[in-house]
Formats: sequence, structure tokens, C-alpha cells
Amino acid sequence: MDTLIIFQKTIYLVDVKNYEGDYEFESKNLKHIKTGKIIKDPYIQLQRCETMFRQLLQELGFHFNVEAYLVYINSELTMYQAPQNPSIIFPTQIVRFMQTLNKIPTKLNSGHEKLADLLISLDLGDYPFTAKPNYDYDRTIKGVLSACCHQFMEADGDTKLRCCKCGLEDSVESAVIRCVEEFKILFPERRVTTTEIYNWCKVVRSRRAITRILKKYYRLCGKGRFSYFV
Ligand SMILES: [Zn+2]
Repeated sequence: MDTLIIFQKTIYLVDVKNYEGDYEFESKNLKHIKTGKIIKDPYIQLQRCETMFRQLLQELGFHFNVEAYLVYINSELTMYQAPQNPSIIFPTQIVRFMQTLNKIPTKLNSGHEKLADLLISLDLGDYPFTAKPNYDYDRTIKGVLSACCHQFMEADGDTKLRCCKCGLEDSVESAVIRCVEEFKILFPERRVTTTEIYNWCKVVRSRRAITRILKKYYRLCGKGRFSYFV
């Protein structure tokens, strides 16, 4: 995946290919007509990427639509028997495609910022999409994002958190679990401990509540101050 564009409600995965010359489209492959060289159809890879990306977003607790596009940008490209697929953009369609994107209203909030930050730092790299985090802990914005608006949440007493945008409440318990799962994906090299999750959530006031939730949903390994949860 080359480019990731985040709009208000939709994330566009855009894979740009600069193939030049005459190609014939075969199922699952592109064949260069002159040389006979076969290239795997990048659209199949993009679809796989899209699926995994959706899963990742879901695991992280973000609710965005995902749309994937494969864009062939080289005007010297001819693709014979190309499928009619609205997700594949050929050189003659690029201008229209860009115009469509530009018409989408965009109002980004801190949730988008956090997501963008997160995705950039995940260093998604090439196919196949491995969510192999390469993430700088210190650069990460700490805090709990709401499931409803993917906005930051603030404490409302000791057992509840409130979405800063719509005011919807969520239990500290479910918010902490969401944070732990996010933390595990982002920092597999760090151990899940009360202190780590306390710092990561930032707005949960009670360390004891975090320990209680960790004990309830995770397994404790090790002893004393070296113990952690899995
Ligand atoms: Zn909300």
C-alpha cells in the first residue's frame, strides 16, 4: 500500500502502480505482451490488504469505512481485457478520481490524528500486510478513545468515562480492555502491567481498578514487581 488518505468517515487505501507498456489482463495475473513477463494482479493483493486493514481497525476500536483503490498512473500503459472494476483507476480516469476525492468534505479531529499517527508508526510496509508494529511509545498520544466517535474520553467518576464529543458514557472496564488490546498490538515488546496500562489510558484515575480489570480478563505471569499480564 502506498498511500492512505483519511477523510472524516472513510479511509482510502490507494495503491499506485507505474507500469508502462502493453499488458494483457489474465485471471490473477498481468502479462506483459512484448516480453511475456507475468506480474501478479496487484488488485488481489490490495484486496487482501484491505481485509487485514479492516481487521486491524476493528481491533484498535476505530470505526471507519475502508475503500481501496488501485491506481495505474502511467499514461503509456495499455491494459487489454481489463476488468470493469470501479476500484481500479486507469490513467484516463485519474483526473475524475481526484475530483471525486476532493469533493469529500473533511473535518478531521483528534481521533483522526491519533489514528494517522498510529498507522504511520505501524509502518505497514509492503504486502502481505503484517501488522508488525514499529512504534515509538514516547511519540504516541496517550488516552482512551471512545468506541462511538473515536474521540478522546474523559473520566466521569471512578467507574465511567465519557466521550468528549457526544457525551456517551462507557464503563471503565470496557475502555480499559480496549486500551489493553490496542497496547498489545502497538507494543508487543512491552509487557502489560498495571503501570503501563495506567499510563497508556491516562484518564483512568484508579490504579487499583486497572489491576482488578487486568486480573479479571488476563492471566497473570511472573511474580512480584516482575509480574505482567497476557
Ligand atoms: Zn461519542
